[in-house]
Amino acid sequence: MTVRSIALAAASALALTAATPALADHHAASSEAEAPAGTAEIGPWGIDLEGRNLAVDPGDDFYEYAGGTWMANTEMPGDRSRYGSFDMLRERSEQQVRAILNDLAADPEAAGATGQMVGDFYGAWMDEEAIEARGTAPLAPYLARIDAIEDRAGLLEIFGTVGYDSPVGVGTLPDPADPTRYIAFASQAGLGMPSRDYYLDEGEDYVAFRAAYRDYIIRLHELAGIPDGAAKADRIIALETQMAEAHWEPARQRDIQQIYNPMNREQLAELAPQFDWSNWLDGMGFGIVDTVVAAETTAITAAGELLDSVSLDTWKEYLTFQFINDHAHFLPRAFDEAQFEFFGRTLRGTEEQRERWERGVALVNANIGEAIGQIYVDRHYSGEARRQMTELIVNLRAALRERLENSDWMDEETRAEAFAKLDAFDPRIGHPESWIDYSDLEVRRDDLLGNAIRAQQFAVDLDLERLPEPVDRSLWAMNPQTVNAYYSPLTNQITFPAAILQPPFFDPNADPAVNYGAIGAVIGHEIGHGFDDQGRRFDGTGRIRDWWSETTEQQFQERAARLGAQYSAVEVLPGLNLDGDLGMGENIGDLGGVEMAYAAYQRYVADHGEPPVLDGLTGDQRFFLSWAQVWRGLIRENRLREQALTGPHSPPEYRTNNVVPNIDAWYEAFDVGPDNAMYIPPEERVTIW
Ligand SMILES: [Zn+2]
Repeated sequence: MTVRSIALAAASALALTAATPALADHHAASSEAEAPAGTAEIGPWGIDLEGRNLAVDPGDDFYEYAGGTWMANTEMPGDRSRYGSFDMLRERSEQQVRAILNDLAADPEAAGATGQMVGDFYGAWMDEEAIEARGTAPLAPYLARIDAIEDRAGLLEIFGTVGYDSPVGVGTLPDPADPTRYIAFASQAGLGMPSRDYYLDEGEDYVAFRAAYRDYIIRLHELAGIPDGAAKADRIIALETQMAEAHWEPARQRDIQQIYNPMNREQLAELAPQFDWSNWLDGMGFGIVDTVVAAETTAITAAGELLDSVSLDTWKEYLTFQFINDHAHFLPRAFDEAQFEFFGRTLRGTEEQRERWERGVALVNANIGEAIGQIYVDRHYSGEARRQMTELIVNLRAALRERLENSDWMDEETRAEAFAKLDAFDPRIGHPESWIDYSDLEVRRDDLLGNAIRAQQFAVDLDLERLPEPVDRSLWAMNPQTVNAYYSPLTNQITFPAAILQPPFFDPNADPAVNYGAIGAVIGHEIGHGFDDQGRRFDGTGRIRDWWSETTEQQFQERAARLGAQYSAVEVLPGLNLDGDLGMGENIGDLGGVEMAYAAYQRYVADHGEPPVLDGLTGDQRFFLSWAQVWRGLIRENRLREQALTGPHSPPEYRTNNVVPNIDAWYEAFDVGPDNAMYIPPEERVTIW
């Protein structure tokens, strides 16, 4: 069964968790200067000084000033739609995982059962010859199940089966009303393209995307030897367009008040009787469940209506195409190339596929990630990193506490609640305390598609097993080898995997200003999610509860609205602006994160004395430069469009340039005044946390 997004989605990550590739090892800046030791990995003390564009005034375009020369001298790799510091660290993590895989392959006996499983998963992916030789045979049993559908009951059964698409996905998460237990949720799903705009927008780009989608559907039919591809493509697109018309906008999906609609089975039957909920839920293993959170209610109702109004044959055509589409990369090269042609080249503007091994690393990480994570942690995570991170988190919390104390717009009662929430924050660093046991998962060297389906089934079964139990707060939603971080409002946990504790985010040998400006602001970003427009609706236990007084809430809304307006004013492509509502949580996280980290850095300075000037840069300048260096990067136009439309993160440039001009200290650090392009008058700057 498909469980796509549910917006309250258990977690707000730092960045899109797109898997990524190639070869790292770049910046070896060599300046001598008055800097200390020179043991940092990037530059003499943690910043790539030569990557700056000194021809640009920092106050006119800080993003360009901080990374312009690097961006001008860096070519977008053909296999990328976005490329920057973040992606380079991801490449490094992939190389680290690749080394683990090679070691396991070289010495399977020493690797044990887990190593065997990892080696077979990866080996099945890498054996292209065997994949070609099998042709479309692996598809046959899965498509036969679709062919055998005779009525709506059969259709629903397939909708609830792992590996197949469905207009409504069902999954589990901690119950926002009682986060000590799990609840089931149902959410809109089923589109082949990224969001409803791709089906409905009349702009010429979208018209072209739709034409390319049609060609792609026809192509997959040809490759699979299924007749009448053109006529089927028209019917499939017509069906998905009807779904898209009822789908909620991404910004609306973020609103917990709109999507938290717990319903018992009777109410579900009223909402969308065609789903025959009792049988459907029982069949999917949710037999013990009485209540389901129906997220996008009207979209679910519309999906139910489509079950009746659209013919069974069209549904079967849709399911067949989507099954092949979802798994095309596990099939012979021609399928894989067709999938890349549409999703990579056309939708994102990427020129080439990533290398096979990189995609293999991503596949293994996604399916049995904790099996590798244990080895990764042994090799790449140190007690010193943990110690320094713990200290940073302590300072960030203290900084926010002080800012809450001094906040002039919170009344005392709300402030006390905010303190309670802050005190209850549960930070997690590096890796989970216990690991998933994959020993029941069958992995076969000669069955790539089957491995992928069984791994999905394994994950679903694990969720179903946990469903009747109390919420397990020790679980992680990211692997240790993932370069990212997240906040979960339902458990009030902030989580920092081992892999993000590397340059440019964190370097134990870097100047403290650099670490505060990068990983410090990341910590602040995650803490900030606890107090963003959605996170603030949850209390310290993860329960959804309104702990805000009316006047303080108004003050918050007023500030958030002004911040949203700043982002909505940004035109990223002709006629396409950012959506301040869609990005609200992430943008509050970024602004609050940098503000908190700056305050924490000031605490550090107060403890350790005024920092030295390094290479002509003050500590405050280095702090802001560090944040900008994290986000510097290149992005292709179509990827930019996708990110602006589907969010929630602002494109990298705006994570720098829309944040710093709201912070007074940035003006002082770089002597920015009314004549500078980025200048915002003090009364228009937004400070929330
Ligand atoms: Zn975030």
